Amino acid sequence: MIRQIGTAACDLLSVTSAMYFYPDKPWLLTGHLGNQICRFYRGGSREGHPLLAPDAKLAPEGLLAASLRGEEDKEEEVIKKPSAVHLPESLCSSSLLEAEGAAADADTFVLTDSLSRSSLNEPRARPRKTSMVTEELLEQLRGIVSEGDPKSRYTDLVQVGRGGFGTVYRAFDSVTGQVVALKKMPLRKRSRKELIVNEIQIMKENRHPNIVNYIDSYLVDEDLWLVMEYVDGGTLTSVLVPVFIEEGMIAAISKECLKALDFLHSKKVIHRDVKSDNILLGMNGSVKLTDFGLCAQLTPERSRRCTVLGSPYWVAPEILKKEEYDTQVDIWALGIVAIEMLEGEPPYFQESPIQAQHLIARNRYPPLRMPNKMSVLFHAFLHSCLDIDPSVRWTARELLQHPFLDTAVSLSTLPHTIRTARKMHTSLAALHGSASTTEMNTE
Ligand code: ADP
Ligand code: MG
Repeated sequence: MIRQIGTAACDLLSVTSAMYFYPDKPWLLTGHLGNQICRFYRGGSREGHPLLAPDAKLAPEGLLAASLRGEEDKEEEVIKKPSAVHLPESLCSSSLLEAEGAAADADTFVLTDSLSRSSLNEPRARPRKTSMVTEELLEQLRGIVSEGDPKSRYTDLVQVGRGGFGTVYRAFDSVTGQVVALKKMPLRKRSRKELIVNEIQIMKENRHPNIVNYIDSYLVDEDLWLVMEYVDGGTLTSVLVPVFIEEGMIAAISKECLKALDFLHSKKVIHRDVKSDNILLGMNGSVKLTDFGLCAQLTPERSRRCTVLGSPYWVAPEILKKEEYDTQVDIWALGIVAIEMLEGEPPYFQESPIQAQHLIARNRYPPLRMPNKMSVLFHAFLHSCLDIDPSVRWTARELLQHPFLDTAVSLSTLPHTIRTARKMHTSLAALHGSASTTEMNTE
């Protein structure tokens, strides 16, 4: 079976270069598609990856022993499962999306007090405020959103993504003639409803070329519709899974993300969910940070946070250790994104989320698969992002001056890389389909 897929993948990829066998994956094949080096896994999994069997390693509820500091009463502990990979539109088959949809909202884990109490001896926390009642929330939202019914304004909806908090469509704005992204978020299903208000407000107030910009929002029945600029190249995840990104491009993408983070951090906003699934690529070479669903606004009165929240493999050690944290958690996550770009997945991705979090909290620095294949500058960059001590970890502003970023290539080659990744997704999905048939026939 493996040999069969191997042969077919070799034909597709024109494998002339290398075939690697990793102990933690049944195998990984690398080869060329045109001038782009690609990879094809068999076994292991990027959850939601269309080419691979679904991975059962989902974060169980009660995954993290949560912080019980009474002062942080606005948020519960929220931890997200790694979200589904954005597919090129051609691959967004309804069956796949329905399958993902079955887990909708389960993408986010809210740890309750009983689950989060790490020790019976701990002082009892102040009772947590529960989620805002719907009428209160609706009132707050009515003050932010536009009036009117957008159903006739936005037409030709095509689903392009789905996350823990909503479904995203590409849509045509019949008033402006623009193509936009429309995120529909059901309010009723949402556990921490005030985070929705946060998402809209922070997006509305913060505009930058490296973040997905807010256009409008509406209340439609009990759903919130968020209209944003549409980014047409898909997520960074959908590119880095099948394609090897060279260091110069890693530097270029990191630089764009750092511009976004420098901007947000200067406004005292922590994103708290930086990961490749939340970085969108444009066919014009743009790189934009999206998904403000977990972000927090720091204030002079509240300059640090302590809520245990984020996506398991990207979460900073200080969050897991229940220490107070600030914008530097985004820098840790960006370092993990740089490793994703290098290796195709974040460190410990073959471990269960709970085991990964133990390792993140315990180890000083995440392990790299092929450290001797990286430049000295890239090593230095990673160390600057991934210092266990957030006060030593470089800030976004400092990292923008890091010599590694001087090695950045032009982003004009990014569309070519996106197209290659799409080709890989399409061809290998077909290949995987036929391989599964073979497997079934043999049984
Ligand atoms: P969630 O908060 O539920 O994770 P996201 O805002 O991350 O939702 O959106 C889910 C997915 O929808 C993204 O991973 C991406 O594939 C797609 N998406 C989101 N925003 C846009 C956009 N502005 N343009 C194109 N695709 C988008
Ligand atoms: Mg997301």
